Amino acid sequence: MTNQNELPITNPQSLIIIGGGIAGLSAAYYAARTNPQLQITLLEASDRWGGKITTDRVPYDGSDFIVEGGPDTFLATKPWGVALCKELGLAGRLHGTNPHQKNTYVLHRNRLQPLPDGLAMMIPTNVPSVLKSRLVSWPGKLRMGLDFLLPAHNGHHDESLGGFVSRRLGREAYESLIEPLMSGIYAGDGDQLSLRSTFPYLHDLEAKHGSLARGALEMRKKMPAAPGSRSAFLTPTTGLAEIVEAMVESLKSKVNLRLNASVSRISKLEYSNTRYLVKLETGETLEAVSVILATPAPVSGSLLAAFDPELASVLTSIPYTSIATITLAYRQSDLSRPLDGYGYVIPRREGRRALACTWTSTKFPHRAPDGYALIRVFVGRAGQESDIPWDEPGLLALAREELDLTLGISAEPLLSRVFVWESAMPQYNLGHPEKLAQIDAALAKHPGLALAGNGYRGIGIPDCIRSGEMAVNKIERELSRSV
Ligand SMILES: Cc1cc2nc3c(=O)[nH]c(=O)nc-3n(C[C@H](O)[C@H](O)[C@H](O)COP(=O)(O)OP(=O)(O)OC[C@H]3O[C@@H](n4cnc5c(N)ncnc54)[C@H](O)[C@@H]3O)c2cc1C
Repeated sequence: MTNQNELPITNPQSLIIIGGGIAGLSAAYYAARTNPQLQITLLEASDRWGGKITTDRVPYDGSDFIVEGGPDTFLATKPWGVALCKELGLAGRLHGTNPHQKNTYVLHRNRLQPLPDGLAMMIPTNVPSVLKSRLVSWPGKLRMGLDFLLPAHNGHHDESLGGFVSRRLGREAYESLIEPLMSGIYAGDGDQLSLRSTFPYLHDLEAKHGSLARGALEMRKKMPAAPGSRSAFLTPTTGLAEIVEAMVESLKSKVNLRLNASVSRISKLEYSNTRYLVKLETGETLEAVSVILATPAPVSGSLLAAFDPELASVLTSIPYTSIATITLAYRQSDLSRPLDGYGYVIPRREGRRALACTWTSTKFPHRAPDGYALIRVFVGRAGQESDIPWDEPGLLALAREELDLTLGISAEPLLSRVFVWESAMPQYNLGHPEKLAQIDAALAKHPGLALAGNGYRGIGIPDCIRSGEMAVNKIERELSRSV
């Protein structure tokens, strides 16, 4: 508890949102739209908005290289990203991935092999294409076929993603096909990740159809195409920063937007269960009726430690792994093979330090000037962080080594950009659903307090947007009850 008279207090009727990534910006956007009377303050520790979303537009040879430091697209089939873009007037600027060169490769015994056609939410559905694939041996393919015969497990107990897919399709299919795709999303260890928290629909497919492949086939038939595009992934023309820029533009007249405002502690006002004090690193203290923490879960835990140590300890127990992206530009003439697809993923068992490589200028052709190639290497995966040199020269050397080994590119890059994201990717490991239940129970005791962001119910951009909206809904419900 904090003494009321300790520091100057301002804004007695307000919502304070902490963290100006996509989740915090979304919370501010939906709060301002839902309740225009509310005094809203958005506090961001760094000197820019967007958190993991950051785009460098680098002029070159009469055009631009569009370099994404964090995410480069969002899933169109989860509606919250498309819906927000429409509200922001960005619908016409969204485009899908290149429909003409859709290959994705997997590094297999040091060579690139195409993924089989017809994957539905990671699960192979095209039997002839699987039979032709060199990624899985004949015994491995036979084992995959058992998926059609094996009985479904009953019950609702959680299991690891790796355990589940190995049980249905065999360990080889898991390690060669599913693990590298899943790693591209979570940078995680599939033998630790909770199936229920990461890919709950896989469990549902087994329960409903008795077979993963049969279920995936049914799902594929029903999947709606993204509006105006057949691509499952969308992105604005000059990068995802367009969404952040449009949000800031829309919020600036309605919300007190504060950069370089790092929060150090949250406490409850003495003798009150419904007033919060938000203390900044500068010593300034703000008072609010409600607070949304849109910071990474361990940061939220440390901010809340003063008044709810139990909640704080659950939040800090959610593990995050670090990741880096290294983008390199070349002349097309420097390449010894065509970049005829979206790039490649690297199974953990290949023993490489890189995780994946995106051929950005093929995936999104307008993101490099004509005649140039833009390539992005991802580095870092759960459990292997100590193998990575996290300094910029070390990462650059690692990325160049990967491109040399796999693509035979030894030329000097024309430009390079390195982004290191420390503790960036939450790991929804076994036990995550139980942690969410504990967090919800604890938050129920604190009216006006809510959490948003990638630490809880989805790490993709649409999930984070939704988390901001859901946090606002919780607070609105509680405010309307207390009136
Ligand atoms: C390399 C990479 C590639 C990715 N690719 C994709 C992709 O292609 N598609 C996709 O959908 N998702 C992707 N993701 C995931 C997605 O980008 C993130 O999950 C999402 O952007 C997280 O948003 P957030 O608002 O929850 O958190 P963040 O973006 O981390 O925002 C949190 C904010 O809180 C601020 N903050 C922290 N502490 C304090 C404090 N004490 N006081 C005030 N502010 C504070 C931080 O500075 C930060 O701005 C990717 C992530 C990474 C790292």
